[in-house]
Amino acid sequence: MTVREGNLEPPKRHPLDWRNPEFYDEARLFEELHRVYDVCHGCRRCFNLCNAFPHLFDLIDEGPSGELDGVEKSRYWEVVDQCYLCDMCFMTKCPYVPPHPLNIDFPHLMLRAKGVKFKKSGASLRDRLLTSTDAVGKLASIPVVAQIVNTANRMPLARALMEKAIGVHRERELPPYTSRKFRAAAKPQSGTAAGSAGACPGKVALFATCYINCNEPEIGHDLLAVLGHNHIPTVLIEDEVCCGMPKLELGDFAAVARNKERNIPVLAKLAREGYAILTAVPSCTLMFKQELPLMYPDDPDAAAVAEAMYDPFEYLLLRHRDGLLETDFKNELGRVAYHVPCHLRVQNMGHKTRDVLKLVPGTEVQMVERCSGHDGTWGVKKEYFETSMKIGRPVFRQMGEAKADYISSDCAIAGRQICQGIGVEAPTKAHPLTLLRKAYGL
Ligand code: SF4
Ligand code: SF4
Ligand code: SF4
Repeated sequence: MTVREGNLEPPKRHPLDWRNPEFYDEARLFEELHRVYDVCHGCRRCFNLCNAFPHLFDLIDEGPSGELDGVEKSRYWEVVDQCYLCDMCFMTKCPYVPPHPLNIDFPHLMLRAKGVKFKKSGASLRDRLLTSTDAVGKLASIPVVAQIVNTANRMPLARALMEKAIGVHRERELPPYTSRKFRAAAKPQSGTAAGSAGACPGKVALFATCYINCNEPEIGHDLLAVLGHNHIPTVLIEDEVCCGMPKLELGDFAAVARNKERNIPVLAKLAREGYAILTAVPSCTLMFKQELPLMYPDDPDAAAVAEAMYDPFEYLLLRHRDGLLETDFKNELGRVAYHVPCHLRVQNMGHKTRDVLKLVPGTEVQMVERCSGHDGTWGVKKEYFETSMKIGRPVFRQMGEAKADYISSDCAIAGRQICQGIGVEAPTKAHPLTLLRKAYGL
């Protein structure tokens, strides 16, 4: 068969076969790893996306034959460990993604490998803690405990002990916890939709997310203020748990499934009642839009939720196109150095955040489209912190050189990473929703 170079059709991702026992068969996994690594060796287009590909190519080039056959199979895992599942190789580089006959889905192969590893040997205490965002958030945001945790996180001695005990790098700046949780303090505006006509629903259900709830509630309040100003009735999801993305990144499919069973019925009911569902964290939005539907391709509830999910700026721009967005901006934003997070880019919807911010008079948006290198939990780990900062270096440089009034990213964690990378001279960090609220003067 002649295999043509490049793909002429749009990529179509296959469902994840995670319930099939063969998915966890190590021999089969290694056959597939060998096949795909060999295609990548011949292609090398992804050499500069992350550390997984350079690591693979070094293993091959430094081996005795200069071919994949010269690499010990046990070292295949090293490539898996360098992948933090940002999806960028699949979405932006690879010409061999399905329906191409070579059928390469590198991130989902890495995910399968992580699933096999988790089934075989579980995860370390550190990895279990870092991915238990719900439980840790609940504990760390208890009044007094939050203050103790935040103070300890800033103390070099405590951080050195923490690095030794559980492997969280001492230099990683960690987001603070708050005892004023978003869900407890949020005041969504009810009422009737002012103009429910248009391309998307005129009422919103907000999935708070663990991060906004326990770490940066202000971003959630900013979103509520913007929705309120635009007369969009909003409710909070009554009962929610973590979207499951951190557990997915660990390969713990059973934990993802448990969270899905809690979240999806509640969200599907709201979707069927005509709500748009929003989250202010791109990774969580992506989880509902893409990963859960691929894990549950025949589940009508997961499909209904995916259909109703919007990134906040995607939603606001659709309202604007229907003439339903207020543009009574009171404040200019000046120059905004704006980072597009990978988990937003892979939602394939264009640059909606930039387009909304550009509606604000006196605002210049300088966009940077490269991974910040943090990833959810990956860049926190002792063994990956340095690489994470190295991956982010081009982003730090470009955003630092922009001499901007604001450093902004839809991914709040990426925003923190960028400010840490730029150093003390970082200008004001502000989430795009915070900027929009400022622009409205709310
Ligand atoms: S999914 Fe992201 S981190 Fe993983 S190999 Fe692809 S580009 Fe690298
Ligand atoms: S993932 Fe695709 S584009 Fe990237 S190196 Fe492998 S074959 Fe090439
Ligand atoms: S940290 Fe942010 S930018 Fe990096 S992979 Fe995750 S979502 Fe993307």
